[in-house]
Amino acid sequence: MFRRIFSGKVQGYFIRQFSVCELPQELQDIQKTCRNFANRELKPVAAALDANSRFPAEQMKNLADLGLMRVTVDTEYGGSNLNMLALSLVVEELSSGCGATGSIVSIHNCLYADMLNRLGTKQQKELFFGKYPRETIGVFALSESDAGSDVAALDTMAVKEGDCWILNGTKAWVTSAAEAKSGIVFATVDSELKHKGITAFLLDFDQAAGLKVGNPEDKLGIRASSTCSLYLENVHIPVKNVLGPIGGGFRIAMEQLDRARIGIASQALGIAQAALETAVQYAKQRKAFGQSLLELSPVRMRIAEMAVRIESARLLVRKAACEIDRNGRATKACSMAKWIASETATFAAHNCQQILGGMGYVKNMPAERYYRDARITEIYGGVTDVQKAVIAELTIGEMNA
Ligand SMILES: Cc1cc2nc3c(=O)[nH]c(=O)nc-3n(C[C@H](O)[C@H](O)[C@H](O)COP(=O)(O)OP(=O)(O)OC[C@H]3O[C@@H](n4cnc5c(N)ncnc54)[C@H](O)[C@@H]3O)c2cc1C
Repeated sequence: MFRRIFSGKVQGYFIRQFSVCELPQELQDIQKTCRNFANRELKPVAAALDANSRFPAEQMKNLADLGLMRVTVDTEYGGSNLNMLALSLVVEELSSGCGATGSIVSIHNCLYADMLNRLGTKQQKELFFGKYPRETIGVFALSESDAGSDVAALDTMAVKEGDCWILNGTKAWVTSAAEAKSGIVFATVDSELKHKGITAFLLDFDQAAGLKVGNPEDKLGIRASSTCSLYLENVHIPVKNVLGPIGGGFRIAMEQLDRARIGIASQALGIAQAALETAVQYAKQRKAFGQSLLELSPVRMRIAEMAVRIESARLLVRKAACEIDRNGRATKACSMAKWIASETATFAAHNCQQILGGMGYVKNMPAERYYRDARITEIYGGVTDVQKAVIAELTIGEMNA
């Protein structure tokens, strides 16, 4: 749908005319479509998806029909050819309906489809985008149990034999691994080289004898999204499926994680906005001491603080997305956006629970789910403490320049 309406126009148009306070009409239309989708197709089922840890397969199909499973991918590979700002709006709106669905869409778009589109060869894109329908999920398998924040310590090995690389090791925490058909897997070709040995490989799950997907983790939140280990035992990957340069995997992973932080921050914004709206709606109709909760000053203060934090975070997220769209890199802005938006989501969900009182603690209302879903945004894609370290280093570096 978006391919037809926008046909790539947003890229250039947006850079010239963007104001953080007023989005161009094309982006407002995307926002509206996604908001309607969230209200119609996600909100009514989010609690059941969560309770049953059920992947939203039908919704993925409908999102793919709207062009939202390959948001930044070129049209020739079935994508919508939109930019990171558009993707951010998509993820924010979907996450306000269901944080887990927002997570699935965000990780798939930001860490698989966008990366393959940016860095893949024509042959790789034809192969991986061409083989599967647009709703098919791809994964990004970088982390290992002993290599999370310190990802350069990963020890999945890749050894070259003839026209194949043979991979052995275990990747941990892989989002959507239970449903995926393909992915980008990181391994080292020489552990002595530390991060300079890390290389990215495109993996077609159907062609990967020796690949085993572990059982989904039993998680606190985003329970409709699967998170599994990938066990690789002598998995043969053709040489033509190396993504980017040999030994260049660490650099391209870090670049891609900047972009993914916009997705995660947007997911956080959506959850925070949903928490604010739930709190206001509930407070309006709930009576205490002969008046609506909305009349009580402490409740109003909580609402004010939620609103201002959400708006501040949103401005930082949009700024980071704009910088990426304009310059390609925006490490500091992306870390700032992720830190603030993720803490805002937890803050808003916490305050929503407080305003709902006992109803905030039970599953009849979505507040407790918002809280459980919000927490992941402070952890995956780089924990908050690492974002702070990145921001400090870059800020101090700029001042010394
Ligand atoms: C639900 C879920 C989905 C995920 N999906 C994916 C995925 O699709 N692909 C993927 O590759 N990974 C994925 N991950 C992994 C995720 O990115 C890591 O869990 C995260 O980066 C943190 O790594 P860790 O768990 O090893 O924590 P650790 O690195 O052990 O960090 C634990 C704590 O130590 C402190 N710390 C560590 N390093 C520093 C530092 N340098 N400076 C300051 N403090 C520090 C922080 O307080 C941090 O919170 C996922 C994780 C989860 C839980």
